[in-house]
Amino acid sequence: MKLEDIPQAFARARRVAVITGAGVSAESGVPTFRGEEGLWRNFRAEELATPAAFARDPQLVWDWYDWRRGICAKAEPNSAHLTIAAMEQHYPEFLLITQNVDGLHNRAGSKKIAEIHGNIWKARCTKCSSKFEIPETPLTEMPRCPDCKSLARPHIVWFGESYDVDLLESVLQFLSRTELVLVAGTSGMVPMPVYLTQHAMQAGAHAVDVNLEDSQLTPVVDASLRGKAGDVLPDLWRKVQSQATA
Ligand code: NAD
Ligand code: ZN
Repeated sequence: MKLEDIPQAFARARRVAVITGAGVSAESGVPTFRGEEGLWRNFRAEELATPAAFARDPQLVWDWYDWRRGICAKAEPNSAHLTIAAMEQHYPEFLLITQNVDGLHNRAGSKKIAEIHGNIWKARCTKCSSKFEIPETPLTEMPRCPDCKSLARPHIVWFGESYDVDLLESVLQFLSRTELVLVAGTSGMVPMPVYLTQHAMQAGAHAVDVNLEDSQLTPVVDASLRGKAGDVLPDLWRKVQSQATA
């Protein structure tokens, strides 16, 4: 697929998947992990978003999540989130697969979302199977399970943890039959987006990535659109809609 064919491909498609990463929320003011502003008290995310860090110092890990939750609460969905929500309305079959945990896709109106890394507004019990919402920020104390009162942890897939198997299975099923995959704002350093895109392409899909720069997705996809997700996605969507009405 050549660059100039992308709008037409999206205008013709009926079944589309979008995969997003932290870059999509960067323009909303939510830092990515790899940038300078991703640092907190000189810790890197890889030192805090782990089961070992939580076992060692749960208060430290909750403090970090609460700092991030404060940022997410102040952030507003940007034009990339809004475009993806509009795409869901347009296509008969659609799935948004996001690595983002900030809840901005939900707030932009997206409904068909697979949050493969979890959600920062949810917690789950470390002892029983309870999962619950934690909308308040800042937290006054570490959340406890409403059922058994044990310590709760963020409902997030941490470094070194496995994905939710059922959720991943439903994502793979959709990708096996999708016509197009649009990947936006992900480096592919966490390899799942690359794997998911390859899975769809092996089943016949075409794929496009949107990023400021080359990423692990670049050698995999058919074509790359360079720029800010908040500019590139609305621009692409305007072209798709003018094709669809032409
Ligand atoms: P990442 O690996 O997804 O990398 C971010 C990518 O976005 C980079 O390739 C960068 O070039 C690109 N990018 C930055 N600004 C962009 C823009 N305006 N438009 C288009 N592309 C842009 O993200 P990460 O920060 O390394 O995080 C890895 C994991 O950590 C995520 O998968 C997620 O689970 C978690 N995380 C989530 C959030 C969030 O929910 N917003 C934020 C940080 C990290
Ligand atoms: Zn419990």
